[in-house]
Amino acid sequence: MFKKILIANRGEIACRVAATARRMAVKTVAVYSDADANAKHVGFCDESVHIGGSAPKDSYLRWERIIEAAKATGAQAIHPGYGFLSENEEFAQACASAGLVFIGPPASAIKAMGLKAESKQLMEKAGVPLVPGYHGADQDPVLLRHEADRIGYPVLIKASAGGGGKGMRAVDKSEDFDAALASCKREAINSFGDDAVLIEKYVQRPRHIEIQVFGDTHGNYVYLFERDCSVQRRHQKVLEEAPAPGMTPEMRQQMGLAAVAAARAVHYVGAGTVEFIVEQREGGAPSAAPGRPKQASAPSGGSEDASAPSAGAHMSFFFMEMNTRLQVEHPVTEAITGLDLVEWQLRVASGEKLPLAQEQLRINGHAIEARICAENPENNFLPATGTLHVYQKPNCTSFERANLSNTGVAVRIDDGVREGDAISPFYDSMVAKLIVHGQTREEALARLDEALAQTHIVGLNTNVQFLRYVVRSPSFARANLDTALIQREEAVLFKQEPLGLALAAASAIAQALLAEKAAEGVDPFSRRDGWQTHGVTRRPFEFEFQGKSAKASLSYQHDGALHLDVDGVSGPLVFAQGAQGIDIRFSGQRLTAAVYTQGEVDHVFAARGATQITAIDLLAHAGEAHAEGGRLTAPMPGKVVSFAVKAGDKVSKGQPLAVMEAMKMEHTIAAPADGVVQELLYAPGDQVSEGSELLKIAV
Ligand code: ADP
Ligand code: ADP
Ligand code: MG
Repeated sequence: MFKKILIANRGEIACRVAATARRMAVKTVAVYSDADANAKHVGFCDESVHIGGSAPKDSYLRWERIIEAAKATGAQAIHPGYGFLSENEEFAQACASAGLVFIGPPASAIKAMGLKAESKQLMEKAGVPLVPGYHGADQDPVLLRHEADRIGYPVLIKASAGGGGKGMRAVDKSEDFDAALASCKREAINSFGDDAVLIEKYVQRPRHIEIQVFGDTHGNYVYLFERDCSVQRRHQKVLEEAPAPGMTPEMRQQMGLAAVAAARAVHYVGAGTVEFIVEQREGGAPSAAPGRPKQASAPSGGSEDASAPSAGAHMSFFFMEMNTRLQVEHPVTEAITGLDLVEWQLRVASGEKLPLAQEQLRINGHAIEARICAENPENNFLPATGTLHVYQKPNCTSFERANLSNTGVAVRIDDGVREGDAISPFYDSMVAKLIVHGQTREEALARLDEALAQTHIVGLNTNVQFLRYVVRSPSFARANLDTALIQREEAVLFKQEPLGLALAAASAIAQALLAEKAAEGVDPFSRRDGWQTHGVTRRPFEFEFQGKSAKASLSYQHDGALHLDVDGVSGPLVFAQGAQGIDIRFSGQRLTAAVYTQGEVDHVFAARGATQITAIDLLAHAGEAHAEGGRLTAPMPGKVVSFAVKAGDKVSKGQPLAVMEAMKMEHTIAAPADGVVQELLYAPGDQVSEGSELLKIAV
């Protein structure tokens, strides 16, 4: 085993790898950028080396610098984590040339699987079922359109070098093909420096089911079962679970063997994931698709819910791609197998045989991972940045403390941040991964909902409450899974309000009164803004809630009780500080709320949901007005990609004006109203900070 390894990554995966290394008495070296000088992963490793500026190209992608750091610190091997250099064959090769072990597959395997089109050609030869499509070298646009016409619409255009949901366009009809191809190629050249594309039939209502594989340097291969990652937004995973609901033992074995065949075909070593797209057909019409299990059978006892789709019977699977690295969602596999995949990676990389053979691997229970991201689900999942002013985790085993036997860990959090840390625009928007395990899917689901409810983040927008809606949606609850789940369940996922004005206002008022009492040690009604009327003391409040303003009035009765009126809902208000938050009773309802005040905004977290309410300070706001007409500002820090208009252009409401890129995504900025463009204030390629004015429009 290695004595010391360097971890060429940051954030949660760097911490995750370091935790296992520590348990195995392997010393670790962290690398860090300017922005990460005080990051969690730096303190978490035994040593650290500064490798450059904040932008990934100036630090985490500078592989010469990283290899130098490994040499200088005496590390014997480099773990690349995921992202960054993990699938960079040149880097793998450079490690080998420098006498360092790359903890991953041989460079040749990365290369073979690196381009989606080439890997498909290889898989075709290995007999792995493929999605009907075109993956040839000829990139003539006319030929590509003919191929799309031949495949039949809808089709998906994919950048061959693409990844992370980028560089993909769905096309519904032939007329739209050319425009989609052009935009796909533009994104591909910008993001991956290579605009080759492939075309695939767009599988309807597909499930994304992937197989974890492992190989060693002695020619042994196993599969560690499947993960269902069908719940996605923008072709990116949101929730992942194992095993896949409705999976039959026969289909699992077929997929497992296909995945092993894929790995074997490229002489794979270490941890890899073979991603399949799974077509489900209503009613189980027979299919001649090559991926169809030969003996279709009824769903096994593996499925808890009788209404779950009988997956195995009506599913065909097709190879999509192989990810030649450890995957973000590997913890769900760890949870159901009781294994530590990073330990396996280290063992295999140091030349040991795979610790277990196929027959020794078992599935225990059910696990689900939720990716907690800094983003705004209500605004098309726009990534968010900010500081984690509050970062309260549920009762869980963090990886650092788990000592990693993994068995019996019901709730696990993997993260790379601490309270007070910032989510910067330089890197991924993932804050943490929450992984739960239960004996059944139902148990895991209930645990996930509870753990999400206990996750309190203040300081930036996150998808935590959104994830709770997804978990509770009928489709997810009944395991009616496919990649369109989020769109299908729109009605219960967006524009929801879990608490309502009355309870939100009661929580904010209770919090304010408790805070005043704690701070001033005085009775709240001795404040100068309390009014005396008819012997009853009254105090007015004004709130902003869900974009509307609301008034509330609190009165102090002769008997000492509080009476609250919020927009017509009135009744006694009773509250007391408890261990889990403030216990509140108002208008026939009970609530335990954890309330965090940030400026004027109260963030309220309760079992039934989280919300925000703004308490307007009546004295401070007299005479203030808000006017922002005609200004178009960057919704987030990032880079200006292009402007679709120039000065003097007439624009209509909703028309795209500019494209920005930030946090691995492109965002289109649209005109808020009809008007005339007056001036562009930046040029393509410029870096802008959040709130910078991009262009001026006269409306
Ligand atoms: P997976 O394929 O395992 O589901 P994703 O594709 O969603 O994972 O995320 C992996 C990709 O996201 C990487 O290819 C990388 O571009 C990026 N990424 C995510 N998190 C990080 C991180 N902490 N550091 C570097 N890259 C990251
Ligand atoms: P990435 O490199 O971003 O992981 P993938 O090729 O693995 O890209 O595809 C990501 C997601 O896009 C899949 O999980 C699936 O939801 C969707 N997808 C990919 N190929 C198809 C297809 N042929 N038909 C329908 N959806 C697809
Ligand atoms: Mg993929």
